[in-house]
Amino acid sequence: MTFERWQLGGIWITKIPEQDRIPGMKALLPDATPDALTAIPWLRPHFVSADGKLNASIHAFVVETPDRCLLVDTCVGNDKPRSYAGWDRMQGPFLERLQAAGYPPDRIDTVLCTHMHVDHVGWNTRWVGGRWVPTFPRARYLFSRIEYQHWRSESEQGPSADGMDPATVLADSVQPILDAGLAEFVDAPFEVGTGVRLLPTPGHTPGHVSVELDSGGLKALITGDLLHHPCQIARPHWAASADEDPVQARTTRAAVLQRSADNGELVLGSHFATPTAGRILRDGDTYRLATD
Ligand SMILES: [Zn+2]
Repeated sequence: MTFERWQLGGIWITKIPEQDRIPGMKALLPDATPDALTAIPWLRPHFVSADGKLNASIHAFVVETPDRCLLVDTCVGNDKPRSYAGWDRMQGPFLERLQAAGYPPDRIDTVLCTHMHVDHVGWNTRWVGGRWVPTFPRARYLFSRIEYQHWRSESEQGPSADGMDPATVLADSVQPILDAGLAEFVDAPFEVGTGVRLLPTPGHTPGHVSVELDSGGLKALITGDLLHHPCQIARPHWAASADEDPVQARTTRAAVLQRSADNGELVLGSHFATPTAGRILRDGDTYRLATD
């Protein structure tokens, strides 16, 4: 398997794919109808298929800096009880891929979750000897304090209707990290290490963060779910049905797109299909993604 990889000064970023589709993209982005997508021609062929479907992916990024090796977002994970059948007790080769890319679990020293949705925390833990144990035992796991508090209180409300399973997700993918003493709660903006910083980007979830990278005068941004699909670059007002606060999510999206167009940074989408990354360019009164 060949991996998509980007160099940013002294930082290397590698995409580790878990799944090449996200179930229910149509319902996730209800404004992205086939007609509406036809009006955004640059989305084809990478981000919209020939038959008009939204391409998307579930993946993690490894960010290797001169002094750290970080894993950003940990996908759905294996063996986890989930309400969506396609993710229920999944058996996928994510860890094998991570290893093949040059990153056995012991090399990861920092795990970052942009937020605590089911497809961003799964590989925090794995099922070994009848219990959930940290997949990355040498790592510090950084969690947004606001995000954790939010999902703690949500999980006390009982099961949710949207298939996000907050109580189960917290119990099998976050609590074992706390129990192992590997969790660190942080408040964004937060300096993770040289050239790595968490930027608060609330709206999709209350404590959502994006990851700013900076090396040798070059900049990049890992979005998290402030954008689910590049169509939202052209249409920032298109909310995702999973956005907890759609109004705040829109404001955040508009601010980040303006910033990225201004500073020319490389934008890496946490659910963007290959080629995954590009630069935000102004396009009339909106934006587009220019991929290399
Ligand atoms: Zn997601």
